[in-house]
Amino acid sequence: MSHVLHRSVNGAYSVAVGGKGVMLYDAQGKSYIDASGGAAVSCLGHGHPDIVAAMHAQIDKLAYAHTSFFTSEPAEELAEHLIARAPKGLSNVFICSSGSEAIEACLKLARHYFIETGESRRTNFISRRQSYHGITVGALSVGGRMKDRAPFKEMLLTGHHIAPCYLYRDRRTDETPEQYGLRVADELEAKILELGPDTVAAFVAETVVGATLGAATPAPGYFKRIREICDRHGVLLILDEVMCGMGRTGTLHACEQEGIAPDLMAIAKGLGAGYAPIGAMLASGRIVDAIRQGSGAFPHSQTYNGHPLACATALAVQKVIERDDLLANVRLQGDHLERRLKERFGNHHHVGDVRGRGHFWGIELVADRASKTPFEANLKLNARIKQAAMARGLMVYPMGGTADGTAGDHVLLAPPFIADAAVMDMIVERLGEAVDAAI
Ligand code: PLP
Repeated sequence: MSHVLHRSVNGAYSVAVGGKGVMLYDAQGKSYIDASGGAAVSCLGHGHPDIVAAMHAQIDKLAYAHTSFFTSEPAEELAEHLIARAPKGLSNVFICSSGSEAIEACLKLARHYFIETGESRRTNFISRRQSYHGITVGALSVGGRMKDRAPFKEMLLTGHHIAPCYLYRDRRTDETPEQYGLRVADELEAKILELGPDTVAAFVAETVVGATLGAATPAPGYFKRIREICDRHGVLLILDEVMCGMGRTGTLHACEQEGIAPDLMAIAKGLGAGYAPIGAMLASGRIVDAIRQGSGAFPHSQTYNGHPLACATALAVQKVIERDDLLANVRLQGDHLERRLKERFGNHHHVGDVRGRGHFWGIELVADRASKTPFEANLKLNARIKQAAMARGLMVYPMGGTADGTAGDHVLLAPPFIADAAVMDMIVERLGEAVDAAI
C-alpha cells in the first residue's frame, strides 16, 4: 500500500529507477523508449552528463535564496538568455516552478496591468474549448476541458470560451484551411463585442494544442487575425507555450512560425527538460513599464520563485540545446517521424488524422475513418493504448476524447530532441503494434 496520493488512488504504478538518453528503466529491469518525454517534458532525454554537472556545480555554490532578499546569478543569466531569444517586445521573465503557475502569473499580471493603467473594468478572460492550461484554479478557469472543470465549477473564476482551431474535425468541406482559420478567429471578436471591449483583459491560447487535441496545429493566418483583433480592442494576448514551446515544434517558440508575438507567454516543460521543476512567464516591456511608472510592484510572489538550482539547470539545458544545434535535429528527425507516421497510419482504418510539427505529433483515432466517428468514451481506449505501448517498451501520451464526440481519442508523441531516425522508426513500429492490439 503506497502512502503517495497517486493520480489513480487504486492504480498500481511501475517504479521508475533510472534513465539514460531516450530510455527509461523500471525496478523490474524493463526498458521503455520515452517517446512522449513524459508529458512533453524530457526534451534532452535522461541522465545528460552536462546537465548533471551543471546541477552539481550550482548546488555546491547555492541551492536557494529567497527573492525578497536577493536575486541570484543563475536567475539573472537565465532571464538574460531567454529575453535575448524571446519574441519581439518581451523584456522580463517571472520564474516559477510549473506551467500552471506560469499561466496563473500571466492571468494576474494581465489583470494588474489594467489596474495600473486605470482600466480596472477589464476583468474578463477569453479562452478556447478543448484547451488545457493547468490545474490551479485560475488556470482551470481558462481551461476548456469540461470534464476537468466539472467537479470544481463552483470554485472557478468566470471564463468565456470560444471555438478551438481544430482543422480535422471542425473545418467545413466548403472552406479552405485559411477561410476556416479566419472564421474561428473572428469568434474572438464577436465574444469581445458581446462582453464589451472595455471589460476584456486577455485572450489565452496554446499556439499548438497539446494534451486536449494532440498536436493540433493552427490554420494558416489564424494567429495573425487573433493578434489583429486583440490589438484593435486593447486586449492582451497570452500564449501558452508550456507544452509546445522551447523548441518542441522546431523553432524555439511555436509562435515564431505564426509570425506573431504575444504580450505574455507561459513556458515550462522543455525549459528545464524535467531535470528541475521550473516554469516562467515572459512579459512585454509595455506591461512592465506600466508597473514601473505606476505602483512599482507586481503583487504575486512565491517561495520558490527564481530558485537558483532550477535556474542553473534550465540555463544548462538551453545552452546544450543551442550548442548541439538540437533544433536542427528536431526539424530533420521531425520530418522523418512525419513520413514514418504517415506511412504506417495514413491509410489505417482507425486513424483519422496525423498532425503536428517538429517533435510534436498526434494521431487521432476514430471508429470510422470515412465519417470521422469517434470511439465511445467508455471504451477507455487511451488507457488500453498506454498499457499496450508500455507492454512493448514504449511511453506515449494517449488522451480520451470528449463524451459529446466534439474531440476524438488521440495519441501524443513528444520524443526527446536527441532522438535519431532509428529511434523514430522503433517508436512508430511499437506504436503501430500497440494501437492494433488495443483497438
Ligand atoms: N499549459 C499547457 C499547454 C500544458 O500542457 C500544461 C501541462 O500539461 C500546463 C499548462 C500546466 O503545466 P504544469 O502541469 O507544469 O502545471
